[in-house]
Amino acid sequence: MPKVELHLHLEGAAPPAFIRGLAKERGIDISGIFDAAGNYRYDGFGEFLKVYEAATEPLRSPQDYYRLTRAVLAESAAHGVIYSETFLSPDFCGGADLAAWKEYLHAMQEAAAEAEAADGIILRGIVTCIRHFGPDRARAVARCAAETAGDWITGFGIAGDELAGKPADFAWSFDMAREAGLRLTAHAGEWQGPDGIRDALRDLRVERIGHGVRAIEDLALVDELAENGVVLEVCPGSNVALGVCRDWRAHPIGRLFDRGVKVTVSTDDPPFFHTTMSHEFDRLAETFDWDAGVFATLNRTAAEAAFCDEETRARVLKQLETA
Ligand SMILES: [Zn+2]
Repeated sequence: MPKVELHLHLEGAAPPAFIRGLAKERGIDISGIFDAAGNYRYDGFGEFLKVYEAATEPLRSPQDYYRLTRAVLAESAAHGVIYSETFLSPDFCGGADLAAWKEYLHAMQEAAAEAEAADGIILRGIVTCIRHFGPDRARAVARCAAETAGDWITGFGIAGDELAGKPADFAWSFDMAREAGLRLTAHAGEWQGPDGIRDALRDLRVERIGHGVRAIEDLALVDELAENGVVLEVCPGSNVALGVCRDWRAHPIGRLFDRGVKVTVSTDDPPFFHTTMSHEFDRLAETFDWDAGVFATLNRTAAEAAFCDEETRARVLKQLETA
């Protein structure tokens, strides 16, 4: 089944073997972040963020990001993804310096164009600031986003530690991105409860929420999300792996969907959570007894909420329909 994915962190999707190989080439020792089987090793969200940042260590040049983009898209395409949006962090790509960012971006776009020609997978980028790096750094990232906004960099977002600062601290950056024509999303309602989602919607005026699953703790908010057509980028495997949800059966995606919220399915940082888009679809089918019709709805919702131009959207929708 073809799939549309809206929530994928490029570095977080790096296959461990790729990062290990790159570290070896660079003579960097990050062996401590891998377990005996060669997978990323961490315990809890705090350590996950540290291992995540350590895994980006060997990624030091635009050429590295070219290779990373190819590796990630090959993996996504192998699991049926036909359209993907990935979070890109100028913080990791040249330290939020605009000239450096443009070089990294050029390399990633080149890789994406080659992957599209080879496998048919379409990629668009969402420039993302990191919440725990603070509002000043976010302004530099927003400047990178605004200067490179166009038909490939189509969105702006915020990721990182949701418990650091408040959405309002980042309003300046989101205003700048909006004025540059970028579409907006924010991670919220993963580690913070319903209020974090309300704050992001009010203070950052985003149209999509990354995760948002803890909306389920406040049914009035759930109904508001449904009424206003706010799209949730739900990543069930990530939530289960990090302990946001006890297990698949306890995951609120089914209840959110039944109550009319526009939910979509993504992998977040797939190798960290031992998941893929096929795995997510399979687990959802078996947990909630969802049939092909439900997955077609989820895919269509994602395509309609994608931050791409209308011609690209029409192409993706057509591919979904004919599948
Ligand atoms: Zn995420």
